[in-house]
Amino acid sequence: MVKLVCNEYGFECDYVVEGDEDTVVDSFTAHMNEAHGIEYSREAIVQFVQRKRRP
Ligand SMILES: [Zn+2]
Repeated sequence: MVKLVCNEYGFECDYVVEGDEDTVVDSFTAHMNEAHGIEYSREAIVQFVQRKRRP
């Protein structure tokens, strides 16, 4: 399980996504695109997730 919080990436936004890694990456990528008009690559979001998982 991993959790990404949009406002931790510099947005004034209360979007939070939590779940397995693949779901979170897909959902967060779509959210960035749809809500903020930013096209992050999947790899970039995977990096966010990996940073979160580090203890
Ligand atoms: Zn957002």
